[in-house]
Amino acid sequence: MASSSLTKLSFSELLNRLNKRELTSVEVTESFLKAIRQRDPSLNAFVHVDEEEALRQAKEIDHKRASGHPLGILAGIPVATKDVLCTRGQPTTCASRMLKGFVPPYDACAITKLRQADAVLIGKTNMDEFAMGSSGENSAWGATRNPWDIERIPGGSSSGSAAAVAARMAPVALGSDTGGSIRQPAALCGIVGLKPTYGRVSRYGLIAYASSLDQVGPFATDIQGAAALLEAVSGHDPRDSTSVNQPVPAYSQLFDQPLAGLKIGIPAEYFSEGLDPEIEASVRQALKVYESQGVQFKEIHLPHSKYAIATYYLVATSEASSNLARYDGVHYGHRAAGDSQSLAEMYEASRGEGFGDEVKRRIMLGVFSLSAGYADKFYTKALQVRRLIRNDFDAAFQQVDVIAGPVTPTPAFKIGEKTEDPLAMYLSDIYTISANLAGIPGISLPCGLTKSGLPIGLQLLAPPFEEVRLLQTGRMLERETDWHLMSPTTIQDDI
Ligand code: GLN
Repeated sequence: MASSSLTKLSFSELLNRLNKRELTSVEVTESFLKAIRQRDPSLNAFVHVDEEEALRQAKEIDHKRASGHPLGILAGIPVATKDVLCTRGQPTTCASRMLKGFVPPYDACAITKLRQADAVLIGKTNMDEFAMGSSGENSAWGATRNPWDIERIPGGSSSGSAAAVAARMAPVALGSDTGGSIRQPAALCGIVGLKPTYGRVSRYGLIAYASSLDQVGPFATDIQGAAALLEAVSGHDPRDSTSVNQPVPAYSQLFDQPLAGLKIGIPAEYFSEGLDPEIEASVRQALKVYESQGVQFKEIHLPHSKYAIATYYLVATSEASSNLARYDGVHYGHRAAGDSQSLAEMYEASRGEGFGDEVKRRIMLGVFSLSAGYADKFYTKALQVRRLIRNDFDAAFQQVDVIAGPVTPTPAFKIGEKTEDPLAMYLSDIYTISANLAGIPGISLPCGLTKSGLPIGLQLLAPPFEEVRLLQTGRMLERETDWHLMSPTTIQDDI
């Protein structure tokens, strides 16, 4: 098989052939590296690729396999990782000038687990700076482009991971989701993206944006790939006290089990004004597919959804302002050259040069919402509303097993279209943010294309630690439709 055509194979096909020794990890890794060389110049999905190191890992895994050594569940599979995860000996910048040249002396827990699962770390992916953004345009290293239409954004903040998988430059990838950063780019790039329950995956070595919301999760072209990657990175880690000490289900085995008697809730608030009609039509079409399989539906209400964006932008920015205080040019981060006259001046110059505009905007919002005299009005109030949002979900899950709706209000927009209007940009996350505030898991699945050929996603939400239910429900759609098999025409010809 020509090496470039390997990139077309699904995760399960690749794994099968690797396990049967029809392919070596070196062959697989080489073909994805070649795809990166060919396709990434027009997409800018990767910020760091060390071909030699990736091939060294692949060789080592092939060697282990040849010697009959037991292998992990990702044995020989290349995985791209968002540049927010610390990788020992490899640059980690969070797409910020502030961290240019930073080479962590340690691996994030999720990275350690990938290595233990015998994955090949193929490269670090581009993102919005410090994971703040919905379009990938806030990267200090330039915007990532959507493989379906390079004039458009791939979504964000895990822009590079989504674009890399959609353009088959990696079979699977890791991202992080604080307010939608896995599900939204997955939807806009036509792939699967899963945000696990808060506490399912350790945040150790994940550079913090908003610590009470951040979660690491998988991107893949299909449910099986997402299930395997989720299984590999989940689990308790004493170094992250918010990681939960609960056994990890065998997602990679359980995802395909049939689900009987399912009841799906349809939140009226998610089909409201502002939802693109083509997205609504595709989502409703996907619901029909479920209906034809005997699924029952119930209209539900999440009455506090309308406060989600405001709540999120208070909680997330407050936490961010505190988390990002460490980048002062002394403890961490870029230090301005030149002779500042005082410590304050040096901080100001370093932070002024190191952070991009959106990060500065978030820090200012957060500092304001936490400041004396305002904290009760803003930050504390937001925490109270956050509880009400969680209560809405708890009440809904008394009546239904899964909640379904759109992921994004619109398909991928044009590069530059919303950069001058932060509020319009923030509204891109209207359907994804609540899950982070409530800590529940969510998945985005491809469920259609617009007339102009842009991907559309279906979002499923489940109660805490019910990732299996999300995977199984997602699999029901995947079995009946071909949306997960589609790939961008822009790259189809050369693979
Ligand atoms: N777009 C949202 C934000 O800008 C969510 C980002 C994320 O999930 N990391 O904060």
